[in-house]
Amino acid sequence: MTNTAKARWQELDRAHHLHPFTDFHDLAERGTRVITGAHHIYIRDADAREYLDGMSGLWCCNLGYSRGEIIDAVARQLRELPFYNNFFQCAHPPSIELARVLAELAPAHMNHVFFTNSGSEGNDTVVRMVRRYWDLREKPSKRWIISRANAYHGSTIAGASLGGMGFMHRQFDVLPWVTHIRQPYWYGEGAGMSREEFGLEAARALEAKIGELGADNVAAFIAEPIQGAGGVIIPPETYWPEVRRILAKYDILLAMDEVICGFGRTGKWFGATHYGLEPDLITFAKGVTNGYQPLGGVLVGERVARVLTTGGGEFGHGFTYSGHPASCAAGLATLAILRAENVLDHVERVAAPHLARRWAGLAEHPLVGEARTLGLFGALELVKDKRTRERFQPSGRAGMVCRQASLDHGLVMRATGDSMIIAPPLICTTAEIDLLVERAHKALDQAERELRGV
Ligand SMILES: *Cc1c(COP(=O)(O)O)cnc(C)c1O
Repeated sequence: MTNTAKARWQELDRAHHLHPFTDFHDLAERGTRVITGAHHIYIRDADAREYLDGMSGLWCCNLGYSRGEIIDAVARQLRELPFYNNFFQCAHPPSIELARVLAELAPAHMNHVFFTNSGSEGNDTVVRMVRRYWDLREKPSKRWIISRANAYHGSTIAGASLGGMGFMHRQFDVLPWVTHIRQPYWYGEGAGMSREEFGLEAARALEAKIGELGADNVAAFIAEPIQGAGGVIIPPETYWPEVRRILAKYDILLAMDEVICGFGRTGKWFGATHYGLEPDLITFAKGVTNGYQPLGGVLVGERVARVLTTGGGEFGHGFTYSGHPASCAAGLATLAILRAENVLDHVERVAAPHLARRWAGLAEHPLVGEARTLGLFGALELVKDKRTRERFQPSGRAGMVCRQASLDHGLVMRATGDSMIIAPPLICTTAEIDLLVERAHKALDQAERELRGV
């Protein structure tokens, strides 16, 4: 693309386009990075520069950008039946078939699916189902939903209320029956404690909150198995078993937001499987279509499904495009590839162990306080002083500097405050992981020179 073509895109973008999660003024000053193409695990910008995409798009292109099978399946479906809805006693083969396949892949006790177009709508659906469940069970006092600080559950009013992002909460009125407990973020909040002790302590914040609200008033706990956007927070091994014990004791539903963890990110089909949990509801989106079409939804466990499907009248909820045929076709093609190519096996046995070894090497870097991975998640904690965990000031600057350095070296890494995070495509080979880690290392070197002024 010529420089004038690029300048023209930037000018039009500035004139007309309001981007998600963007400081509009800041963007207008710096100019938009226009992405014009992609292949395999690389994206290309308007300057024809290529980047290894360490974030799989936005946690969704888990099979990369060159999957013709998915594109063909979408095109075929659009020719066959470009649209019909799933309202009023109707359905169509792709929505029915995808529901069947998802039920097959989900934990054994989950056999029903409700489709949406996004993860946010999936979490709105969770809210609607949880309320409906307790109403039908004639326990209408069960209203509170407990979530966690620094969680991300989307950006509709319900999704953003469930989420624990303070800067989002300050821009609207959080729903009054949502409350938040602390997150299981050992590196950031567990100084002086072992991981195991801290995991138990973070889980017991749930029990304390239930005590405060009264178990008869608590409907559900919602959580990501591993927090993604919050900075790839991998809970200590003691956390989830203790949460599970507490929820069972007080008869409270567990809703797991697997929008990122689902479909192989941990090496299992779901984060719930990885942690041996049996959630009542699972929200999914992103990777289900490899990001090629918008699709989300909620997997429903038997306990909730039985109540919803036996009487009580109409469930007054749904979207025009719930189970859109083209999206479902993309989902079917994506899941077929994940199975046919044993992608989860590749993650579990090859890619994740290799990433774990190579990423751990980055902990030697003077800027890195902790380097952690699980499956194909990775995070680096940038610190000024490794021993005391002291951060650079102002907070967030080190992350920004490192993100730019990473782009300069041809790698997309994301910064969450002063944590650098990656979630590369699940199909990464060991050589591609080596390349990713090499580029991350060079980015750290450059960031260090800039931050310490040497
Ligand atoms: C991205 C994300 C969502 C929101 O999904 P959208 O499709 O952007 O609405 C919800 N939960 C988690 C964990 C996510 O990562």
